[in-house]
Amino acid sequence: MRLHIKDTFNKELPADKDTTNYPRQVHHACFSYVTPKAPENPLLLHASEEVAELLGITKEDLASEDFLGLVTGGSILKDTQPYAMCYGGHQFGNWAGQLGDGRAINLTELEHNGKRWALQLKGSGLTPYSRTADGLAVLRSSIREHLCSEAMHYLEVPTTRSLSVSLSGSEVMRDMLYNGNAAMEKGAIVARVAPSFIRFGNFEIFASRGEFDTLKKLTDYTIKAFYPHIESGTKEGYLAFFKEVASKTLDMIIHWQRVGFVHGVMNTDNLSILGLTIDYGPYGWLEGYDPNWTPNTTDRQFRRYRFGNQPQIAQWNLYQLANALFSFIDESEPLQEILDQFNTGFHTKYLEMMRGKLGLQKEVGADRDLISGLEKTLQLTETDMTLFFRLLSQYSAGMDVEDVKALLDPIKDAYYAPTELKDDILEAWHQWLAQYVYRLQLEEISDTERKTAMNATNPKYVLRNYMAQMVIDEAEKGNTDLLNEVFELLKKPYDEQPEKEKWFAKRPEWARNKVGCSMLSCSS
Ligand code: AMP
Ligand code: MG
Repeated sequence: MRLHIKDTFNKELPADKDTTNYPRQVHHACFSYVTPKAPENPLLLHASEEVAELLGITKEDLASEDFLGLVTGGSILKDTQPYAMCYGGHQFGNWAGQLGDGRAINLTELEHNGKRWALQLKGSGLTPYSRTADGLAVLRSSIREHLCSEAMHYLEVPTTRSLSVSLSGSEVMRDMLYNGNAAMEKGAIVARVAPSFIRFGNFEIFASRGEFDTLKKLTDYTIKAFYPHIESGTKEGYLAFFKEVASKTLDMIIHWQRVGFVHGVMNTDNLSILGLTIDYGPYGWLEGYDPNWTPNTTDRQFRRYRFGNQPQIAQWNLYQLANALFSFIDESEPLQEILDQFNTGFHTKYLEMMRGKLGLQKEVGADRDLISGLEKTLQLTETDMTLFFRLLSQYSAGMDVEDVKALLDPIKDAYYAPTELKDDILEAWHQWLAQYVYRLQLEEISDTERKTAMNATNPKYVLRNYMAQMVIDEAEKGNTDLLNEVFELLKKPYDEQPEKEKWFAKRPEWARNKVGCSMLSCSS
C-alpha cells in the first residue's frame, strides 16, 4: 500500500504541548497528539472500494494486513502523528464548552489525484476530549455511519465518506436507551474520509475563550486550504468566507429536505465548515411525510431537530459561527445580511428543488401554492415520502381529472393504511392531483422527459431505518451478506434496479415501533 502523506493541520496549527492522554481542558491548541488504541482482534467487515480508490488504495490492498492495521488503529503509518481536534459546540441550543474529538482520531492527511483527504478513525479509544466517556463505538452505530455516509454520497448529498467498518474484537458497555439497562455490545471502528473534519465548533471554542490568536490561525488555515480563492487576513476576506460557508450549508440542507433525511443532532459541533453532512448518529429517513418527525429520542420533548426545522437550525448555527468570527469583522450588519440571505435563499432554492421533485421545468407563480398544498395533503394520512414522489412520475398532462379512481390509483401504494382512507382525505387528494395535472398541461417537455428528470431527483431507494437495523441484526450474528447487498443497492439509488424491487416498499409494520427502526438515542 503506497500512500502519499501530506499533513498540514498538525504541521501548520498549534499543538497541545501536553502529550499525555487524559481528559482535560486544552488551551491555545487546535489539537492534541494521541495514539489510537490497538484493537484486540480486528476484523474488517466491509470496505468501500470507491473511497479506497480516492485515496490511492487498490482493491488488492483492501485484503492486506497493512490495510486492516491502518483502518483499525493497529499500525500507524510511518511519518504520521495522529491527533484529536479541539472544538466546542452549542448542544440543543446551549453552549456546552469544550467537546472535541472524544472518540475520533485523525490519522493523517493524504493527497491523491490532486485532492486532499483527511483519514480519521471513529471508535479508537480515549483522547483528551473524551470527558467521562470511553472513546469507543459500537457495531450498530458504526454500521449506520458507514452505510449512510456512502448512501448520501450516491444520492448526491454533500457528505463525509466512509472507507470501512471493522470489529475491534472487544466489547463495549452501553445503555442503549438510557433507561438503566446497560449491556455489553460489540466494539467497532469506522475509518472515515473527508477533505477536512473541521466544524463550526472548532471556531467557537477559541472565540468563547478569547483565544483570538489561535482562532485567527485556524481561520486563515481553513481559508487557505479549502477556500483558496478567498484572500484571508482582511475583513472582506473573512466575510466572503462566512458567506461561502452559509451558501454550502444551505445547499446541504436543501439536499436533506429533497431526500427526506433528518440528521437528528444538528449541534454546532456537528456542522462541517465545508457544508458536508457529518457525524451520523441518531439520524433517520422520513417514511410517512411529517415535518415534525425526529428519530432522536433525546430530542423527543422539544423536537428541535425535526425534519421541518432543519433550515432554521442551520441558520441558527450559522449565527453562532458569525459570533465566533465577529472579531475579524467588527460590525454586525454585513454578517446579519448574510444570515438574512440564507433565509431568502432557502425559500428560493426550496421552491426550485420542489419544482424539480414535481417535474416542473417552467416557473409559474402558483407553484408555491401547489407545493404548500401538497405538503398539507401529504400529512392528511400517513404517506410514504419516497414512494409518493417516485410514483408521481406516472402522471401525465392528458389524464382525465374527472376520473377519480384513475387519478388516485398511481399513488395508492404510498399510503400506510389505504383501506382506511376517509372520503374527505380522498377528496383532498383528488383536488390536489387534479391541480397537478392542470399544472402539467402548462409544461412543454414530454411525459417521458419529465419522468426521467423526476427519477433523477426523487430516489427510488433510501436507507430506511428498518433496513439499517436488519443489516445490523445480521452483522451482530456474524453475517455481512445483507450489509453488502444494501451497500450495493444504495450505490444506485435513482436506478430502477428491478431485481431489487423488494426494497421499494413501505416500512413493514413490525418496524413501526422497534428500537433502531423508528427511534434512536444518542448512545453510540
Ligand atoms: P456526538 O453527539 O456524537 O456529536 O458527540 C458529542 C461529543 O461527545 C463529541 O465531542 C464526541 O467526541 C463526544 N463523544 C460521544 N461519544 C463518545 C464516546 N463514546 N467516547 C468519548 N467521547 C464521546
Ligand atoms: Mg459529533
